[in-house]
Amino acid sequence: MSPDPAAYDAALDRADAHARAWLAGIPQRPLPPTSDVEAVAAALGGSLPDGPTDPAEVIDLLARVVEPGLMSMGSGRFFGWVIGGTLPAALGADWLVSAWDQNAAIRFATPGVVGAEQAAGAWLLDLLGLPQSAQVAFVTGGTTANFAGLAAGRQRVLEAAGWDLDRNGLSGSPRVTVLAGADRHVTIDIALRYLGLGAPTLVEADDQGRIRPDALAAALATVEGPLIVALQAGNLHSGAFDAIGECADLVHKKGGWVHVDGAFGLWAATSPRQRHLVPGLERADSWATDAHKSLNTPYDCGVSIVRDPAALRAAFGFSAAYLIRADDDPDPYETVPEFSRRARGVPVWAALRSLGREGVAALVDAFVANAQAIAAGISEIPGAQVLNDVVYSQVCVAFESDERTRAVTERLLADGVTWMSGSTWKGRAVMRVSVSNWSTDDEDVRLSIDAVRRAAAPG
Ligand SMILES: *Cc1c(COP(=O)(O)O)cnc(C)c1O
Repeated sequence: MSPDPAAYDAALDRADAHARAWLAGIPQRPLPPTSDVEAVAAALGGSLPDGPTDPAEVIDLLARVVEPGLMSMGSGRFFGWVIGGTLPAALGADWLVSAWDQNAAIRFATPGVVGAEQAAGAWLLDLLGLPQSAQVAFVTGGTTANFAGLAAGRQRVLEAAGWDLDRNGLSGSPRVTVLAGADRHVTIDIALRYLGLGAPTLVEADDQGRIRPDALAAALATVEGPLIVALQAGNLHSGAFDAIGECADLVHKKGGWVHVDGAFGLWAATSPRQRHLVPGLERADSWATDAHKSLNTPYDCGVSIVRDPAALRAAFGFSAAYLIRADDDPDPYETVPEFSRRARGVPVWAALRSLGREGVAALVDAFVANAQAIAAGISEIPGAQVLNDVVYSQVCVAFESDERTRAVTERLLADGVTWMSGSTWKGRAVMRVSVSNWSTDDEDVRLSIDAVRRAAAPG
């Protein structure tokens, strides 16, 4: 028996009402949560009732207990980590994805969502200036996108060394040298660990966290055999970009694979005004980015892009390599680490369709303009110092001492008007700003600078 459509009505109506109330409250609500994990787990937990609970009641209980424990990450004044809000069209599409409940693994089985993801993938390649023949795959996030690109690279460089990875695994294989900038994102290390490649050999970075091309050239001079180099578009602290094209050319001369971690920075390529940050981006072999950060789709949505579709398919395809025909469009499951999955690329399509080409560029331009306005405002506060060149969406601020920086950050977070996360960069305590939300406006910028001024005031 198929479910009675009316069976869903009450639960969906309640979910819709709670969602709208949550979203409507974001502009007024203090940003930090007012509840904690133990309180929420206790209120929702205990012994599981033996009998059923009405679905609408379940939704009401969930919203009532969970909401005080939510951080207002969708606020235009939330600048913590690198988060990003949710565009209206992306959220609507995400709801449909849940209602449709398609397993987006196989083309013939779910052509609706696979087709939507295919359209989104082609638009992404176009906007990012990457070859239309590259393979786009929708994964859970930037970590997995790094994993996927590096997995494709591992497959290719070992194959070129005459090693059958599928058959033999890594035991006894030629050593794969992996180089990465000293200020790479930690998820590169995690991805390499998953891949059994160990820790990367670090190459010196400059004062903004960019890999130094001269240091890379020197490191490459000593390398023999299979080689992968992980570059970065968008440093977590400074927003700085490696000289991707220049470095890629050096690596390719040695027959290596070039991967770019552009979790939030890859989006610079979509704007004519920011494109200068990524010269030669298209000369890499694989790219990782997040739609759930800069594009403002809901979690979870990362994007893995690989120039040679066969390399990605060789890494993740189930069927034996001899069964793969190059002219055959791969099924989505052959390009990602999981088999069954949600159609997470559909909200990407909706975000892009709702913004249009100019809207995507304007979104990225606004991140940069707002970051620069915040940096300018904060640098006028006595004792505050902006440590990075604000070329993109990230601002790194320090006060007179580490102790002061931590105290100001703590006061700022308690104040609740804005959220900027603490970190350490280059051995100093810092307050980090990441502008990643589509809704951040001039008023948010002004209120946030005022909040930092209050938090930094003596006494
Ligand atoms: C956020 C981030 C990642 C990891 O992405 P997730 O979506 O959190 O898995 C990787 N690299 C950089 C530069 C990032 O900012």
